[in-house]
Formats: sequence, C-alpha cells, structure tokens
Amino acid sequence: RAKESGRGVYRFFKREMDETIRERRTLARELRQAITDEELVVFYQPLARAADGEVCGFEALVRWKHPVRGMVPPLEFIPVAEENGLITQLGEWVLRRACADAASWDRPLRIAVNLSPLQLNQPNLPTLVHEVLIATGLSPSRLELEITESALFKDYQRALDNLRRLKALGVRIAMDDFGTGFSSLSTLQSFPFDKIKIDKSFVENIHRHDRATVIVRAVLGLGRSLEIPVVAEGVETQEQIDFLRGESCAELQGYAIGRPGPIDSLSAWTLARAAAAAAAEVETKARG
Ligand code: C2E
Ligand code: MG
Ligand code: MG
Ligand code: MG
Repeated sequence: RAKESGRGVYRFFKREMDETIRERRTLARELRQAITDEELVVFYQPLARAADGEVCGFEALVRWKHPVRGMVPPLEFIPVAEENGLITQLGEWVLRRACADAASWDRPLRIAVNLSPLQLNQPNLPTLVHEVLIATGLSPSRLELEITESALFKDYQRALDNLRRLKALGVRIAMDDFGTGFSSLSTLQSFPFDKIKIDKSFVENIHRHDRATVIVRAVLGLGRSLEIPVVAEGVETQEQIDFLRGESCAELQGYAIGRPGPIDSLSAWTLARAAAAAAAEVETKARG
C-alpha cells in the first residue's frame, strides 16, 4: 500500500518536473527568438541624490514584451538565460541599448547596467564595453556596471582581472544587493568598488525591525569609512527617505523616487524632478 502511494507521489513529481523542464525549454527557445525579434525593452529607474532629491542617474532594467504573456519581469527569464548562455547576447543588447539611450539624453546623467555572473567571466568583456562606449559616444565615467558578489565565485581571478580592466577604462563598478550574499565583506575587501547598493530587503525593514535598522546604519558607516558612496534600493516611504537622509546615505532608488519606465517617459520626468529640486532650494534659501 505504502509502496503504491510512494510510486504515485513519484509519478506526480516526475510529471511536475517534466512540465518544468518543458516550460524552461520553451522559454529558452522563445527568448532566443525574442532577442532577434526585438521583443526586449529596457526600462529606466531614476536614482536621486539623497541630499536634495535631484535625479543623478538611471538604472537600466530589462523587460520582455512577450506577444502572449505580456510584460515578463527579468527574474522570470534572466536565470534561464544565465543557465543556457543566452545572457551574453542578451546582456550585450541591453548594454548597447542603454548606452545609446544615455548618450542621447540632454543631461550627462549616469547610466547603471546590470552584469550577470556569466558576463563578468567572459574574457572579452572589457573589449566589448570599450567598443560599445566608442560606438555610442558615451563617456566612460557615465557608465556604471552593477555586479553581485556571486559573479566573483565562478572564476575569481578572471572576474577580478575583468573588473580591473573595466575600471582602467574609466567605467564605475557598483556592488549590487549588498548584504544578501555569503561573503559580502570579503567581496568588498577584494576590490575597490565605486558604489555599494544596500539591498532592498534591509531597506524595507527600516523602523520595522530593529535589526534591519541597525544593519542599514552599519552599512552606511562602513561606506563612510571606506569612502564608498552607499545607495539604498527599494525606498518606498517618506519615513525611509528621512532616515536615510539623516544617516547621510548618498543616493536613493525606489518607488518613492520613481518606478522603472520606458525611455519616452523619462525626459518629462527628469525635468519635473529637476524643477522640484530647484524650487526646494529656493525655498530653503528664502527660509534661511
Ligand atoms: P536589481 O539590479 O537589484 O534591480 C532592482 C530591482 O528592484 C528591480 O526589479 C526594480 O524594479 C526593483 N525595485 C526598484 N525599486 C523598488 C521598490 O521601491 N520596491 C520594490 N519592491 N522593488 C523595487 P526588476 O526590474 O524586476 O529586476 C530584478 C532583477 O533582475 C534586478 O535586480 C537584476 O538583478 C536583474 N536584471 C534586470 N535587468 C537586468 C539586465 O539587463 N541584466 C542582468 N544581468 N540582470 C538584470
Ligand atoms: Mg541592479
Ligand atoms: Mg539591486
Ligand atoms: Mg536587488
């Protein structure tokens, strides 16, 4: 009896697994097509200087405009692309698109692009980035590449070597999702990052969990001592903004600042924001 039901459970899981594998295969095939069919779009989310709210840059976040499923979020296809190697092609496409878009902006704002672990381990990555900068005419200092610490685990020496070569080009390197990995501190020790992005899982718990508040404060202190600007991601409330400002966090990113949006939503948005920042300044001067 037990054996019977055991086999039933096995059959059930086997079916589930086959289903998952089939789904992944379909996704991989469709994704390959999506790159050539230009179904991918880059959304941009603003980053604001904490001190005055002025927009100082944007992060490029890829979306898949699937003909049937609609807008697919990156967490549903980036892991698949990473697994089957498609990420190199996809990542190159995002990099090119983001740099070309940023080069066309009327203000020299910074553009942040996410790099996957596989990309960081490609020997030709610095050459590619160099080529894209020249082709798009974007100044290297305006490009910021975001990596997570897992990118250093595949081939540590190669990844580190690539980071050094990228930095030599004048590109900035940010550590993304800080605090969520297994060895965030040793990663921080191994390379002179230009920015630390404290993960939203900590930011969302500011004032909700004492421990999270303490951790955020400690990371900000760490950044200060190492002279690395810290960005808070996932900022959603005024209370979080006030806290982060008070703790002299450098930049803020999150729905409270602005949601990711398509390129044509940007120019009006940044102008409005810049106007608001200017007005705030006038107000402060008038008061003071
Ligand atoms: P990430 O680089 O840490 O990007 C931040 C994510 O947080 C984005 O999710 C953004 O939409 C979301 N977010 C921003 N503000 C808030 C907020 O206030 N509240 C909440 N709950 N979420 C917020 P998204 O766009 O879904 O991207 C998820 C992840 O996918 C990214 O995390 C990044 O790791 C990856 N990704 C996105 N685009 C690319 C890409 O072009 N290449 C690679 N390799 N990875 C990418
Ligand atoms: Mg990022
Ligand atoms: Mg992040
Ligand atoms: Mg994150």
